[in-house]
Amino acid sequence: MIDTPLPLLVDELRAVVGNDGVLSAHSDLVVYECDGFVIEKNCPDVAVFPRTTAHVQAIVRLCNKYGVSFLPRGAGTSLAGGCLPVGGGVMIVLTRMKEIVEINLRDRFAVVQPGVVNVWLTQALKGTGYHYAPDPSSQGACTIGGNVATNSGGPHTLKYGVTVNHVLGVEAVLADGSLVQFGGPTEDGPGLDLTGLIVGSEGTLAIVTKAWVRLTRDPQGWRTMLGVFESVHDATNAISAIIGAGIVPAALEMMDQGILVAVEEAFHFGFPLDAQAILLIEVDGLEAGLDHQREQIIQLCQQNKAREVRLAASAAERQLLWKCRKQAFGAVGRLSPSYCTQDGVVPRTKLPYILERITDIGRRYDVRIVNVFHAGDGNIHPILLFDERNADQVRRVLAASGEILDECIACGGSVTGEHGIGVEKIEFMHKLFTADDLDVMARVRTAFNPTLRLSPAKMLPTAGACGLEQHHPGRRAAM
Ligand SMILES: Cc1cc2nc3c(=O)[nH]c(=O)nc-3n(C[C@H](O)[C@H](O)[C@H](O)COP(=O)(O)OP(=O)(O)OC[C@H]3O[C@@H](n4cnc5c(N)ncnc54)[C@H](O)[C@@H]3O)c2cc1C
Repeated sequence: MIDTPLPLLVDELRAVVGNDGVLSAHSDLVVYECDGFVIEKNCPDVAVFPRTTAHVQAIVRLCNKYGVSFLPRGAGTSLAGGCLPVGGGVMIVLTRMKEIVEINLRDRFAVVQPGVVNVWLTQALKGTGYHYAPDPSSQGACTIGGNVATNSGGPHTLKYGVTVNHVLGVEAVLADGSLVQFGGPTEDGPGLDLTGLIVGSEGTLAIVTKAWVRLTRDPQGWRTMLGVFESVHDATNAISAIIGAGIVPAALEMMDQGILVAVEEAFHFGFPLDAQAILLIEVDGLEAGLDHQREQIIQLCQQNKAREVRLAASAAERQLLWKCRKQAFGAVGRLSPSYCTQDGVVPRTKLPYILERITDIGRRYDVRIVNVFHAGDGNIHPILLFDERNADQVRRVLAASGEILDECIACGGSVTGEHGIGVEKIEFMHKLFTADDLDVMARVRTAFNPTLRLSPAKMLPTAGACGLEQHHPGRRAAM
């Protein structure tokens, strides 16, 4: 809780954004107590909804005037607690800044405000021959501001790259309320790549108020396949074989049997429910050559004991397959009241090993785990099922999650492929980086955010060297 004269701050915020742009009653703020990471919760003291960049600047200046911390939020789909208002303070919710400012097909960029939902840009570009490539599975809800802050990936980033590869520039409000622009509509400006620094900084350096994003030509054609396997081991070996053969699929996703059952119940695609794993494989590009790649992939799947490889027969079937994949997390609601999605990365050839370890860890902690993930990138998403009202289950889920992430590090991987560090994984930072590395990162953060009022206690351990002093004042669910 903030101990400044809150009513005065609220009055001044209302004067900036209007009465309907400020929430301060506890009952209104409860929905902002957490994001997609439900294990830690804490309400902000105030939520404020700017409509313009000038509003964001004024809000930040008021927070500084009253010595209150502040935190940007998009749609709140972070799975790492990036939107947890540690210690309370003011949450700056950017969803009313939702304008697609410009679509420039000749120069292949679009300019968007941060609250534009990812899929809105795709829809706006329909029929133009261009698209915005980063397509997180949450694209129907998450905002481009949130994508920029977390450097989002998605199924098609295997071939097309993650968000940072598609952001040409940003306009941002710094922690003192001043406005900056890094990059812009043209490629490769001189000097340090400050756009690249902002992308993935999880709101700890600046609040993004506009982004220039690259548009990508639609491919001429697609071939979308469904490989059906009797074991997870065979499916993961097929992944290494496909990439090892020099094929770069546009997407290569895996679902295991646990998730398949939930997805089938939700969408009735006709998945074989006795299969232990399926691969969703897509190649795209010039029509000439696609059939050859498809045949190669079918052969490689068969060599790795695929029971069958089905082809999406029509555009509608392809769309349904992608719907099943992208809404798989939603279908998990059929399996348990709460779930925790992990986000480790391992070298692709370690996928068979890590999935065996995940099964073993789940068994030892008596936690049911299902898997749906961006297999081509080695980016695993074990989903740990539990009931957040049961303190013992929460403890076991946290311990099992920690062991899985430790295993990823031991495999030469990392603890996040796309969801970010947030508050959830802060204590892993000292396992991934040396004290000197963390100190350099902390100094960069301090250069942008000297008072640390912007997004405190996020991403980097607070004192620079060790994550263990990170305090978690948010209430832990069921504990
Ligand atoms: C079902 C589901 C599927 C998902 N699939 C994927 C996936 O395939 N790939 C992937 O990468 N992620 C995925 N995610 C995670 C999440 O959707 C992404 O991290 C997304 O980018 C978050 O966007 P958001 O608008 O919800 O941001 P929020 O959750 O609101 O915020 C995320 C972080 O960004 C900061 N932030 C938000 N807006 C701004 C801004 N304008 N300026 C500065 N900082 C800001 C916040 O402070 C916070 O630290 C998934 C999540 C869910 C629930």
